[in-house]
This record gives sequence, structure tokens and C-alpha cells, in this order.
Amino acid sequence: MDQAMIDRLAAAPVAAGKLLIEGEWVEGAGETPVLSPIDGRQLTTIAAAGPDDVARACASARDAFEDGRWSRMAPSGRKAVLHRLADLIEKHATELAVLGVRDNGTEISMALKAEPGSAAGTFRYYAEAIDKIYGEIAPTAPNVLGLIHREPVGVVGAIVPWNFPLMIGAWKIAPALATGNSVVLKPAETASLSLLRLAALALEAGVPPGVFNVVTGPGRVTGEALALSTDVDVMVFTGSGATGRRLLQYSAQSNLKRCYLELGGKSPNVVFADAPDLSAAAKAAATAIFRNAGQVCVAGSRLLVEASVHDAFVAELATATRKMAVGNPLKLETQVGAVNSLSQLEGNLGFVADATREGGEIVTGGTRALEATGGYYMDPTIVTGVKPEHRLYREEVFGPVLAVTPFKDEAEALRLANASDFGLAAGVWTANLSRAHRMVRGIRSGVVHVNTYGGSDVTVPLSGMKQSGNGADKSLHALEKYTDLKTAWIQL
Ligand code: NAD
Repeated sequence: MDQAMIDRLAAAPVAAGKLLIEGEWVEGAGETPVLSPIDGRQLTTIAAAGPDDVARACASARDAFEDGRWSRMAPSGRKAVLHRLADLIEKHATELAVLGVRDNGTEISMALKAEPGSAAGTFRYYAEAIDKIYGEIAPTAPNVLGLIHREPVGVVGAIVPWNFPLMIGAWKIAPALATGNSVVLKPAETASLSLLRLAALALEAGVPPGVFNVVTGPGRVTGEALALSTDVDVMVFTGSGATGRRLLQYSAQSNLKRCYLELGGKSPNVVFADAPDLSAAAKAAATAIFRNAGQVCVAGSRLLVEASVHDAFVAELATATRKMAVGNPLKLETQVGAVNSLSQLEGNLGFVADATREGGEIVTGGTRALEATGGYYMDPTIVTGVKPEHRLYREEVFGPVLAVTPFKDEAEALRLANASDFGLAAGVWTANLSRAHRMVRGIRSGVVHVNTYGGSDVTVPLSGMKQSGNGADKSLHALEKYTDLKTAWIQL
């Protein structure tokens, strides 16, 4: 990828975002400015959909579902359209990545892979899945026939966060569309632009009008209206636990729609003294927390290190961390991009202040960086001596702040790893095969990495345990959220 092309794309003005309803781009009840985290300046505006706009989008999705323009298309037809969409995402990959980075601040080297790259792969994966999944015949008595059909659920409401809008958006939109549902998507206020561009590409690929609608705007207005809509059958969400709780309340207040929640994490990354390569583990521990400025749901934000190697490991980790290039996320050499918003940055700094007050010791960072740019940057921060009762141990920062805690043996490592309300991800570094498997069995989280951290692909589920959520994104298991089972019981 060449820097000149990125710079050229980054210099282009960004048109004001509109809503996509029934295949038309329309104004909303209001509009919201979009500030770029790169320099704090206004990039453009997006439409702020009011309750009436959301109602029209949901009614459009409902009509499209009922008249069968997509829901009753042959799977091979939907597959062809979704493959065309994947082709278009690949064709416009750099443009999509640059637009997204200007909006949300992820470093471009990561965004290129994690955003359009991953989104195109996700659309292909589910496009390929849909004409390979069969119904079932039950093992009944010979005088009856029990058929189990899988049907689309109807209208899917999808609300997504700002850290990886295209990747996470695709994890919801692709399986929902593949199985014949209609979708109303609500992107995050601070990361709507690349998803609006994706929606334009979906129309170009041949997704019929009304099947995929996008409503942008504030969570408490636009998101709330979507989650309360009685036209929505299933709500899929990625974001914070606080919003997840609200969605369950909206469901109870409206039509008891099913809610699938992919929430936060405080994931333990456990390093044993017998790790195959402690230097590699130290470098990986840095990227596990600091890429995308720590704004990664599965970030390894609690580092647990065996006491016998703790000091040497932290020294190596600090060296690797100090070498990480913090800066303009549109530069290919940048390894730690911008924090998404000023409020997020202030929250991160608040965590550091609390950690120091509670007895933690700052080894690197702890401060705002590059303030003269007007953008929102933070030095990667390592805090040692963090105890399970400290706020930094218990709460998700969602920023570049790592809590480090020593342990004395495997039993204590497991106890510390599980001492959390969250259960999203974990890492274990050991050359002892039996220990690795014992830790995989013992840790209560949706994914446990062994001798690596992150990078799992679309073939495996991402699913939270405990307060990290329910249901799965990615893999064939995700299809369960978007389909209902129906039994035909036939007397022969
Ligand atoms: P957030 O909950 O503040 O916002 C997420 C989305 O919900 C946004 O689109 C927002 O507009 C909307 N929203 C906010 N209030 C709402 C309301 N009352 N009703 C309806 N919608 C509302 O979360 P965020 O700050 O954008 O994202 C960060 C969080 O997402 C972190 O906790 C992170 O761990 C989590 N996350 C989880 C995963 C996963 O797969 N488990 C992946 C990425 C991020």
C-alpha cells in the first residue's frame, strides 16, 4: 500500500451523511457534526434520525421482508449479490479504510486488514454458507415425518460501536442478509461514514431497496427508537454493558424482541515463566493492548505474569512499548493511532489517575500525547502493582492502559484470570501442553489464545461469557441468531 494514495484520499472533502431508507438517501430530523480524532476538526456532518425516520426505516424493512423481494429469493441469488458486494468492498478497500480512519482514528496499517479486508471476507464466508446449509429430518416413528426448517427471523436491528465499524458491522449484516432477513443498521455517532459507504456499495451490488436501511444519529434517540420498534424482531448489538442493559429494558417495554449482546471485556493475558519465548510474549503483550489505542474489545488489558520473571518481563515489555510509534493514524508507520473522542481520552486519563491513587505504579505513558495537533492521542500506559480490588483491574478502560499483576503459581493465575465480571478473551503463554489445556478449560471466556494473542478469523465464534454478552458473532454459529426453527409434523 502506498502512502501517496492514502494522502490523496485523505485530502478529499467528505460529503454530508444522509439516511438510507427504502433505497433512497434522505435527510434526517437533524444533523450532527463529525469531528476527526486526528486533529479535532470538523470533517463533515451526519444525519441525526429522529423517531419518525427510524419508524420509516423499520417499516420499509418490514415491507421488504414480507413481500419476499429478498427473503424468498433463491439462496443462490442472494449468494451472487453478496459476492458482488465483497468484490466492491475489495475494489474500494483503500477508500473505505481511509474514510473510516479519518472518522474513528484507527491506525491505517491495521484498518486496511481489519476493516475492508475482514468485511469482504465475512460477506464471502456467509454468501458461501447459505446454499450449503440443509434442514433436518427428525428420527420419528415410521408413521410420521418431522421436518425442521430454518427460516429468517424477519427484521434485524443492528447497533454497532466505533472501534471497527466495518468489521463488526459485517459480522452482523452479512449473516443477517445471507439468511434472507431485512436489516436496519445504526452505526456509532463517531464512526458512521465507512458504513454509509458500505450501504451505497450494497445497493450497487444489487441488494434490493428496503432490505438494508441505515439510520445514523445519537444512541439515546436513534438507537433507542430502533430498539423500541415493534417492527424489529431481533436486535444484535456490539458495545458497552450499560447500553446492553438498556436494550434488554427496551425489549421488555416493546415486543420482547430477542437481543444478542457482544459487550466489553477485561481480558487476562497470562504469562508463565515456561513460555516458549518470553521476548516474543513481551512484544505480543504490547500489541495485544496498544493496537488501535487499546480500543479493541478483546484487548489483553490485564497482564498476569509469574513472579519469578515479572521484573525482567515488564522491562522487556516497557522497551517494546516505548518503541511503538504513536501518531497520525493515516501514516503507514503509525502503530498506535488516535483515541476516538475527547471524552474517551478524558476517561482513559481518569483511570490512570485512579490507578495511581490506589497504589499502582506507572512504568510508561500515563499522559496525553501530541496535544498541539488538536487530536486525541495518549501514550501507551503500563501500570504495575495492580490488585484485584483496584478499579483498573475490574473495569474496562477501552484505551491504551495495561494493568500488570504478578502471580506465584498456576492455581493463583487461574483464580486471578477469572476474578472479573467479564469473560470475553484471554491469552496463555506456556510451553507445557498440559498446563495450556488446563488453563483453556479453566478460564471462563469466549476465546483463549495460546502462545499468541488476537487474530482469530471468521471461521471461529466470538462469544462472550458472563457480562461480556451472549450469542456469537462469526462462524456458522452466528447463523443461529438470524434464523428461527420451524417444525412440520406430518402424519403419513
Ligand atoms: P456504546 O454502548 O456507548 O455504543 C455502542 C452503540 O450503541 C453506538 O452505536 C451508540 O450510539 C449506541 N447507543 C448508545 N446508547 C444507546 C441507547 N440508549 N439505545 C440504543 N443505542 C444506544 O459503546 P461504544 O463506546 O461505542 O463501544 C465500546 C464498547 O464496545 C466497549 O465496551 C467494547 O468492549 C465493546 N465492544 C465489544 C465487542 C465484542 O465483540 N464483544 C467488540 C467491539 C467493542
